[in-house]
Amino acid sequence: MPEKIIPKKTPMREQPPKERIKNFNEVPYGYSPEEAIAEAKRCLQCKRAPCVSGCPVEIDIPGFIKFIAEGDFKSAIKRIKEKNVLPAVCGRVCPQETQCEQVCTLAKKFEPVAIGRLERFAADYEAAQGEAPIPELPPPTGKKVAVIGSGPGGLTVAGDLIRMGHAVTIFEALHKPGGVLVYGIPEFRLPKAIVYREVDYLVRCGVKLVLNFIVGKTATIDQLLKEFDAVYIGTGAGLPWFMNIPGENLNGVYSANEYLTRSNLMKAYLFPEYDTPIVRGKRVAVIGGGNVAMDCARTALRLGADEVHIVYRRSKQEMPARAEEIHHAEEEGVIFDWLTLPVRYIGDEKGWVKAMECIKMQLGEPDASGRRKPVPIEGSNYTVPVDTVICAIGQGPNPLIPQTTPDLKAGKWGNIEVDKATMKTSKPKCWAGGDVVRGGATVILAMGDARIAARSIDEYLRTGVW
Ligand SMILES: Cc1cc2nc3c(=O)[nH]c(=O)nc-3n(C[C@H](O)[C@H](O)[C@H](O)COP(=O)(O)OP(=O)(O)OC[C@H]3O[C@@H](n4cnc5c(N)ncnc54)[C@H](O)[C@@H]3O)c2cc1C
Ligand code: SF4
Repeated sequence: MPEKIIPKKTPMREQPPKERIKNFNEVPYGYSPEEAIAEAKRCLQCKRAPCVSGCPVEIDIPGFIKFIAEGDFKSAIKRIKEKNVLPAVCGRVCPQETQCEQVCTLAKKFEPVAIGRLERFAADYEAAQGEAPIPELPPPTGKKVAVIGSGPGGLTVAGDLIRMGHAVTIFEALHKPGGVLVYGIPEFRLPKAIVYREVDYLVRCGVKLVLNFIVGKTATIDQLLKEFDAVYIGTGAGLPWFMNIPGENLNGVYSANEYLTRSNLMKAYLFPEYDTPIVRGKRVAVIGGGNVAMDCARTALRLGADEVHIVYRRSKQEMPARAEEIHHAEEEGVIFDWLTLPVRYIGDEKGWVKAMECIKMQLGEPDASGRRKPVPIEGSNYTVPVDTVICAIGQGPNPLIPQTTPDLKAGKWGNIEVDKATMKTSKPKCWAGGDVVRGGATVILAMGDARIAARSIDEYLRTGVW
C-alpha cells in the first residue's frame, strides 16, 4: 500500500507535435526504469484486484506491477507473458481506459494506475536485454493445428497451443505477418519492429509461419483438414465499407485500408527510399470518427498534407476513437468538422476528385447503439475543395472463406457464427474468433477470443469430443 496516494499518473515523455508531424517515429518515448517504479508504487495491490477482471486475457496485473515496484523487471515480464504473448503491442494500443484502467480502484477518486504504460515498459525492458528466453515446452502431443491469419488473434492461439504441446502452422495471405498490427496501425503508434519481434518469439517457440497463402484460394479449409486435426479462423475484417455516394470511384478517393496499407506495409512512409504510389494530398478529408480515421489523418499529415480534416457526422462526445488518439490528432493540427456528412464527391475532367459536397447534421434521439442519431439539416449543403478523400467508416470480414466452405455458418455481414463459450463454428474441427466474428473490434478482444478457442481446441485434441 503506498504511503501517500499520488493522484495523477506518472507522465510519459513524447515527441513534441511540431517535430513529430515531420516523421514516422513513435510518439511516446516510454517510461525510464525510475518512472516505471514510481508509477508501479501507485498501485494499491488490491486483494480482489478489479483490474484483472477488466482484462480480456486475465493478466495478473497487481502481480506484475509489484515486481516492477521492486525493480525486478525480468519477473514482471515473465508474469505478463504467462497470459499475453503480445505485451509490447497491447501496452501500446489496447484501449486500457475502457478496460483494466477503467475499473482500477484508484480511478474512483484519482487517475488509475497507468497499467498499459507499465506493460509496455516491462516488454521493452526485456527487448533491450537481447533475445527473450523461450519457455519450457511440454512433450509434443502429435496433434496439428492450422491457424488462418497472423493477426493478434491468430498469434495468440498459436502461442497458447504451442505451449500445450501441439504443432501449429499459421497461414497468412500477405507477405508479412501481424495482420492489422502491421498493415493498419501506423509506425508512429506501433513500430513494426516490435510486432516482428513478438512474431519471431513465437517462431522460436516452434510455430511454423507460411506467408502468401490465401485460404479459400491457395487451399480450402476442407483441404487443410485432411492434414490438420483442427483449424482456427482468425482472418479479421479487412473488407472496407463505403457510403455508396456519387463520386466514390474517382481517383484520389481511398478506403482507409488501401491508404494505410500503401503507407505502412508497402512503405510509402519511407519515401524516397521506397517509391510506393500514394497520393500525397494537400487538402485531405478523412471520413469517420474511429481509431482508423485518426490513423489516416495523422498519416496524411506526415506524408505532407497542408490541411487534414476529419469529417464526422456526430459530435466529439460520440466519437468512437480513443481519447488519446483524438488528443494526439488535435495537437498535431488535424481539423475536426463535427456534425458533417459528405453527400457526393466531385471530379475534374481527368477523373480526379477535386471537391466534396457536405451537409450539416444535428443530433436527434439515441439510436440502437445508444449514441444520438445524426439528422441532416435540410438546405445546409456546401462544397469544399479536396484532392484526397479517405473513407474510414468501418470494415467487415472478407467473404472468401464462407464462400468456399459450404458448411460454415456466416451471418448477414459475413461474420462467422460461433458458440461464444468455446468459439466453435458450425463446422466440426473449426474454431473462429476476433474481427471475423465480431466485425472491427480491438486487439485485446481478438486475443481474448483466441484464448477461449485455444482451451477448447486443446480439450478437443485431448478427448476427441467435439
Ligand atoms: C487502422 C486501424 C487502427 C486500429 N487501432 C486499434 C487500436 O489502437 N487498438 C486496438 O485495440 N485495436 C485497433 N484496431 C483494431 C484491431 O487492429 C483489430 O481488432 C485486430 O487486429 C483484430 O485482430 P484479428 O486477429 O481478428 O485480425 P487481423 O488483425 O485483421 O488479422 C487477420 C489476418 O488474416 C489474414 N487473412 C485474411 N484472410 C485470409 C485468408 N483467406 N487466408 C489467409 N490469411 C488471411 C489477413 O491478411 C490478416 O493478416 C485498429 C484497426 C485498424 C484497421
Ligand atoms: S485495481 Fe488498480 S490499484 Fe488495484 S491492483 Fe489493480 S492496478 Fe493496482
